[in-house]
Amino acid sequence: MTSYDYDLFVIGAGSGGVRAGRVAAQAGARVAIAEEYRIGGTCVIRGCVPKKLLVYGGEFGQAFEDAKMFGWSADNVRFDWKTLRENVQNEVTRLSGIYRANLEKAGVSIFEERAEFADPHTLRLSKSGRAVTAEKVLIATGGRVRPLDCAGADLAITSNEAFLLDALPKSIAIVGGGYVAAEFATIFASLGVETTILYRGAEILRGFDDDVRAFAAAEMERTGIAVRCKAELDAIARDGDDYAVTLRGGETLRVGLVMAAIGRDPNADGLGLEKAGVDRTMNGQIAVDEYNQSSVAHIFALGDVTNRLQLTPVAIREGQAFAETQFLNRPTAFDHADVPTAVFCRPPVATVGLTEHEAREKFGGADVYLADFRTMKHVLAGNPERTLMKLVAHPQSGKVLGAHMVGRDAPEIIQMAAIAVKAGITKQQWDATCALHPTAAEEFVLLREKAR
Ligand code: NAP
Repeated sequence: MTSYDYDLFVIGAGSGGVRAGRVAAQAGARVAIAEEYRIGGTCVIRGCVPKKLLVYGGEFGQAFEDAKMFGWSADNVRFDWKTLRENVQNEVTRLSGIYRANLEKAGVSIFEERAEFADPHTLRLSKSGRAVTAEKVLIATGGRVRPLDCAGADLAITSNEAFLLDALPKSIAIVGGGYVAAEFATIFASLGVETTILYRGAEILRGFDDDVRAFAAAEMERTGIAVRCKAELDAIARDGDDYAVTLRGGETLRVGLVMAAIGRDPNADGLGLEKAGVDRTMNGQIAVDEYNQSSVAHIFALGDVTNRLQLTPVAIREGQAFAETQFLNRPTAFDHADVPTAVFCRPPVATVGLTEHEAREKFGGADVYLADFRTMKHVLAGNPERTLMKLVAHPQSGKVLGAHMVGRDAPEIIQMAAIAVKAGITKQQWDATCALHPTAAEEFVLLREKAR
């Protein structure tokens, strides 16, 4: 029988890889993990966590405004970017340390260097040049920012650099219309940067419910973000200390900074996958089955490098399912249906289940319930921000198929609504829930009249 250095070698210490490695080690497996950058991965180091902290940082500006009608004076408030940046980075370092400590506590060997396949069971470590062998290998290398493809593309920053800017620019053009574009537009605008989104399509946030997309874009514009749709980039050039952004059609914008937010690609190049015989999809992702198994029986993959949902909690659940299946003798496949998700723009967007369009396509119709209102706090504050709530139900059975919200606390509210949607309850059961007054969330259980 062949003997290997490890029972499991995990490539990538992000959310999914760390969970899988830790649970496997706690189950008694000899586990090693390799990370070429910082332990914690995209979510902790340059994604969800620092992003959310910057969103919180930006929210204070509006809060000081809202406070006036509640009797507070908040004159001469000032904002210091470096204080926020440093405090966020310190928190990132603290969390990365916790991830490391948890791995060490579980007995996982950590290699802080890049690992690549030398053959199906052997990994070559880049700094030390060492070769280690493992019975099973888990690829959890996540994604990497997709670069722009236009003249002067190198002049644009990405979200990676946005966290570490020396100073905030006066103005910024953000290219893209997805999660990162919407969230960073909100962060920059709320910190006083004149912000423009340049999106190639007709409406930002493709994939979300159409009412949600229109409402979110309108609310973002109301907060001062210029949302320019059907805007395709031709070139970026230096213009003194600024940048000239030329759009197809010839129009030129002059801005202090350009940021690319046009998606993420699977981080699978240069891993030696061909030496291991691992198949990739047309888009370069690693193709896996419901048990995270690749085309090679002993090689597995999860998270953003695979052909599924690019979300941290999904990678964590896939990591847990992998470890249970392979090391705890409990075959487990994570169910990717009805995964809630949020975009932390202002006001935030959150959603679970089917959009109205998807429900109509799937079931030939949909019962739709809508509420569009201002919260009592915003009314008193004189803040025009509005809230949208939308429920989509099956036209015959009445099963709640989707819940969508744009508005303050939407991610917190939809996380709870996701339990009901996942449990498959009907609109009648949903309505049996008594309102909790006075809240914004109560409007969700008071949606009686069908809008369509
Ligand atoms: P994304 O949501 O996929 O959005 C990419 C955007 O860039 C889309 O608007 C897309 O337009 C546009 N685009 C793509 N290629 C382009 C090109 N060549 N030229 C111009 N525009 C282009 O990507 P992301 O915002 O970078 O986020 C990546 C993923 O990370 C997300 O899908 C999400 O799963 C995850 N994420 C999650 C969160 C969260 O949970 N809050 C936050 C950030 C990221 P089209 O719509 O026309 O394709």
